[in-house]
Amino acid sequence: MNPSKRRTVIAGNWKMNFTPAEATAFINEVKPLVAGKNNCDVIFCAPYVTIAAAQEAAKGSDIKIGAENVHFAEKGAYTGEVSAQMLTACGVEYVIIGHSERRQYFGETDETVNLRTKAALAAGMKVILCLGEVKDERLNGITNEVVSMQTKLDLKDVSAEQMKNVIIAYEPVWAIGTGLTATPEQAEETCGVIRDVLTSMYGAEVAEGVTIQYGGSMNEKNAAELLAKPNVDGGLIGGASLVAEKFKAIVDAAQ
Ligand code: PEP
Repeated sequence: MNPSKRRTVIAGNWKMNFTPAEATAFINEVKPLVAGKNNCDVIFCAPYVTIAAAQEAAKGSDIKIGAENVHFAEKGAYTGEVSAQMLTACGVEYVIIGHSERRQYFGETDETVNLRTKAALAAGMKVILCLGEVKDERLNGITNEVVSMQTKLDLKDVSAEQMKNVIIAYEPVWAIGTGLTATPEQAEETCGVIRDVLTSMYGAEVAEGVTIQYGGSMNEKNAAELLAKPNVDGGLIGGASLVAEKFKAIVDAAQ
């Protein structure tokens, strides 16, 4: 991380975990553990039905509660979806878009990721945009091409001004929920490639200001090494964000 140039962000992705009561209990447990750790922003992205309880529990702390997805339309015949306008009306500032599980299981493409990103930004939200290569792509040596293409397509028609509200989460798909982690060198190299693409799209000043997280089995043991890399500005954390002590250790590593 390079705190002189950009904000470090540690974000939990709860996925399909925690009822409202469980979220309340978890936030009450984690709140004192991360209090006063001002060198990073702390966010938990929650299932829609859990957001209100988590927000209530987080009151009086610096913890922010986000969503895990958002639709690109303002309203209409999209059964089961939730719009950015609905989220902002509920006081939700952050949203994950393009998570690999959405791409893998729910048919998300770079095109729909781009539409969702633009809709969330237009509504004034902050986006955590996820991208990353699958195992075969890494084994075939095309990681850089894949993440470059995703960065360009997912951010198509997003302005330099709007980039102030975009966090990118580099998440090698083979590392998510598998216990496999990219080495700090792999994470640094690929986050650096993403920053180079941002430089080509928006210029160096904008690119240097964008927080690029690493995600993929980041935990209390490997966080410090990953976060020590200059282009790794935080983490998007799945499994370890469900255990208060583990999450605290990651936030500590970001101090
Ligand atoms: C994720 O869901 O974004 C993630 C990185 O999960 P995990 O930390 O469990 O690999």
